[in-house]
Amino acid sequence: MNDELIAVPGGAGFVGSHLCERLIATGRSVWVLDDFSTGDDANITALRTSPRFSVTRGDIVQAVPQLIDSAARIFNAASPASPAYYRREPVQTTLTSALGVWRLLESARRSGARLLQMSSSEVYGDPQVHPQPETYWGHVNPIGERSCYDEGKRCAEAMCYAYQRQYRSEVRVARLFNCYGPRLRPGDGRVVSNFIVQALRGQPLTIYGDGQQTRSFCYVDDTVEALLRLMEAPVDMPVNIGNPIEHTILELAETVLSLTGSRSALQRLPLPPDNPRRRCPDIARARNLLGWAPRVCLGDGLSATIAYFRRTLGLGLRSTSLANRARLPGDH
Ligand code: UDP
Repeated sequence: MNDELIAVPGGAGFVGSHLCERLIATGRSVWVLDDFSTGDDANITALRTSPRFSVTRGDIVQAVPQLIDSAARIFNAASPASPAYYRREPVQTTLTSALGVWRLLESARRSGARLLQMSSSEVYGDPQVHPQPETYWGHVNPIGERSCYDEGKRCAEAMCYAYQRQYRSEVRVARLFNCYGPRLRPGDGRVVSNFIVQALRGQPLTIYGDGQQTRSFCYVDDTVEALLRLMEAPVDMPVNIGNPIEHTILELAETVLSLTGSRSALQRLPLPPDNPRRRCPDIARARNLLGWAPRVCLGDGLSATIAYFRRTLGLGLRSTSLANRARLPGDH
């Protein structure tokens, strides 16, 4: 087994590509397997210049190439993540988590590799416990529009621990809460990218429902740091990875308007079905076991994300400096 090779299924996606960047920067060899259904070649263009980076186009639902056997570590980031996308592709979304993860675990069992599964706060569904610790079993509609994703992720977790019990496989499970940053896909329907692109284009910001639902947004660099720590830590239970500072969607909209200097209006639209009302991680486990806590506050993370969208979409509303932006909870 080549100790240096790290496999990243889904590495051309948002979180996956940031993770690959960190791995390459720290001298590792990285192999990405991606079907590019929601990933983007542009996310890994810069990485392709490294001799330690390689990529194969392929769908883990169909097959996993033999090269996986030479990886010592597998970070599984393969899954669509946008509710708007997975509602359109519910079968493939379920299969990617259930069947795809099974294929990866089988490969890891053969090779002895350690697998980190990127799970999601969606395993908690519309939570009735707040904030959500890992010991909470969740409140998920098993047949609703989000179930392809939620139950897929739950099945993937179950599969990881089945392999741990039955074959002593080395697994890690990271439950990611809303993650944001540069390379979010414009137009994929997620709230941070939607609001920023709408603000920069001078279009109304689309608020679903009353905007009082909450999310806790974690900047992608913080998320990646936690994933790297978790992979190497002796932890045999799921770990929440997220920012425990909670914001309403209306607060997020106001903040994006202030940071972009946009005069966009707010437009109310119906709330999609099964939309979780509140979401906030209890990160005591990550603090204790990984020595990790998020460092980037929402204002700084959003500013970096706005700068990215300005650059890539060529959108040029006036720039708002960090110095004169609105202060936010969690800023210091
Ligand atoms: N949302 C919104 N306007 C948008 C996109 C999303 O109000 O243009 C809301 C959505 O209904 C949800 C929250 O923002 O309550 C986060 O949505 P997202 O799709 O980013 O991810 P989720 O956390 O629901 O998986």
